[in-house]
Formats: sequence, structure tokens, C-alpha cells
Amino acid sequence: MKRRKFLRNSSTVAAGIMSAPLLASYTEHTTSKETNSIGVIPIAICTWDFGNATAKAWEVLKNGGSSLDAVHQGVMVEENDLKNSTVGNGGRPDRDGNVTLDACIMDKDGNCGAVLAMQNIANPISVARKVMEETPHVMLAGKGAEQFAYEQGFKKTDLLTEESKEAWIKWKETSQYKPIINIENHDTIGMLAIDEKGDISGACTTSGMAYKMAGRVGDSPIIGSGLFVDNEVGGATATGVGEEVVRTVGSFLIVELMRQGKSPQEACEEGVKRIIAKNKDKQDFQIGFIAINKKGETGGYCIHPGFTYRTYTKDGHINNPSDSYLKS
Ligand code: ASP
Repeated sequence: MKRRKFLRNSSTVAAGIMSAPLLASYTEHTTSKETNSIGVIPIAICTWDFGNATAKAWEVLKNGGSSLDAVHQGVMVEENDLKNSTVGNGGRPDRDGNVTLDACIMDKDGNCGAVLAMQNIANPISVARKVMEETPHVMLAGKGAEQFAYEQGFKKTDLLTEESKEAWIKWKETSQYKPIINIENHDTIGMLAIDEKGDISGACTTSGMAYKMAGRVGDSPIIGSGLFVDNEVGGATATGVGEEVVRTVGSFLIVELMRQGKSPQEACEEGVKRIIAKNKDKQDFQIGFIAINKKGETGGYCIHPGFTYRTYTKDGHINNPSDSYLKS
């Protein structure tokens, strides 16, 4: 089945459909699956075709920067892109019209920080990093996260763009969580990088599911679900219907599968199959996983065709079409 048809057919039964984000201004190179098994470092990899983000991460890595700075600066590109309606400033709001953002970050030493359902701050990944570096905690949520951000010098920003506001007003005409055409309603950027020292870090940031219930948090800011890194083994990150990723602690699972000897590709496939096993009668939603191991080998797998992931190494900047559990 063609992707467009899949989107149309599934729109009445699932809120969990992902779409490729709007293409931006980076230079297109090649499209190939062949790099999946070639281990090369440094490397940056991210969910979807967020090529401006991997380009930024690569700039950091090629200048000898750390993987932590690479993923941080990389995903921030999407948080700052007002045309990106699924991440950061300009993200779609919840059903009450409030933009609430989720993000987490994890470094080579297993340090991590996260913000959940935070409003009015344009760069949740930077606040997550501050939580990691400046507090004894891992997660700050809602008003507490926002307050902490102001204390750290972040500016109050209205995150609801005119375009998002108009889309929300239109959505309110029916107020269904399962909109008729459910495209560009969500799409998280999860990014993993290995720097020239061989150290791995990851970051994940999203505005979550459009028109979600107030207070809803998905997998993206949950360490182990939307993102997990173990510097001895590798890292994994997710996009898609967060509830399903949380139910299997997807990213942690994938890293543990790699620890047991699976390749990143095999581990991502097993991660998706665990989700399928819990949803035998309901597969009309999308999940996409990407993973990287210590050698710089990568993998990606999803439920429905249409998911892609970007890699940037010295050998090129590639948009990789992910293999999928369902073939059409
Ligand atoms: N995983 C995100 C969430 O559930 C949404 C997405 O990646 O599309 O909030």
C-alpha cells in the first residue's frame, strides 16, 4: 500500500500515524540502506529526515566536539524551526491550545536529564541538559520545569504560532483525538551521536501528540523509553505512539538486546516485534526505532513503511528508508 493511502485508511482508527517532516534547506546527498551495517565514527543519526539537525551535529563532531554537544545542538535546530510543527517552538498544542514540550538527554556516563510537559520555553533540550548538570534530579515536570528554566535564564516565549493556532481552532470543530487526516500531528526528533573519542550520547525532543489531553506525556522524555544510551554498548531512540513505546521500555530494550549480541538492526526489529506482540489486533499505528552500537553500526525499523532516518558520517549525509514490519 502506498504511504499516502495508508495515512488515509488509518486516519479513522488510530491517532498514531507519523509523517515525514517538511523538507528543509539542507543539501540532499544519497539515499541508501547500505551504510546500515558499516561501522564508522564519528557519526550522528536521527529519526526522520531532519537533515538540518544532523548537519549541525556533524559540524560539532567534525570539529572534535563531544557527542553530548552534537546531539544537543543538533536537535535544537528542530526546536527552533517554527515550520516544524512537531518539535519545540511552533509545535502543535494540546486540546486546550497549550503547547507542552517534552525532552531528555543522556551522556556517556549515564547522566541524564528530562523535562516533561513544559510550557513557554523554546528549547526544552537545553533545560533538560541543565536538569542533568545543575540539579540532583533527572526529571522536572510542568510548572516546576518552567520555573527552573526561568531561574537558569531562559526567556518566556509564546510557542503557539499563528499556523498552529489556526489548525487547533479548526480541529476544535470536531474535537476528535483521531483527526480525519492525521498527518504532521507528531514526529519526534531522537538523535544519537558518537564522537571521535568513541563516546556516545543521545537527545530526544518533541511537542508530543497533537491535541493530546492536558498533562499527557509520551515516551520521548522518559529515559529508557524514548531514549537510552549505554556507552559500553550503544544507544537507541524512538518516535511514534509513545504509549506503546513506554509499555515495552523500547529504547532500553534495544540497547540490552545489543548488549546480548544483536546488531542495531536486529535489535530494532526485535523491539518493534515486542510491540506488535502486545497489539495483535491493533497494528494501525506507527513506531520507528533507530539504534547505534559502539562501532558506529546503525539500524532502524518501524511498523509501517514510510519512516526514514538520517545518518551523517565522513562518507556522506544519508536519508535511510527504514525497513518495516508491515510491507505495505
Ligand atoms: N513519541 C512521541 C510521543 O508519543 C510522538 C512522536 O514521536 O510522533 O509523544
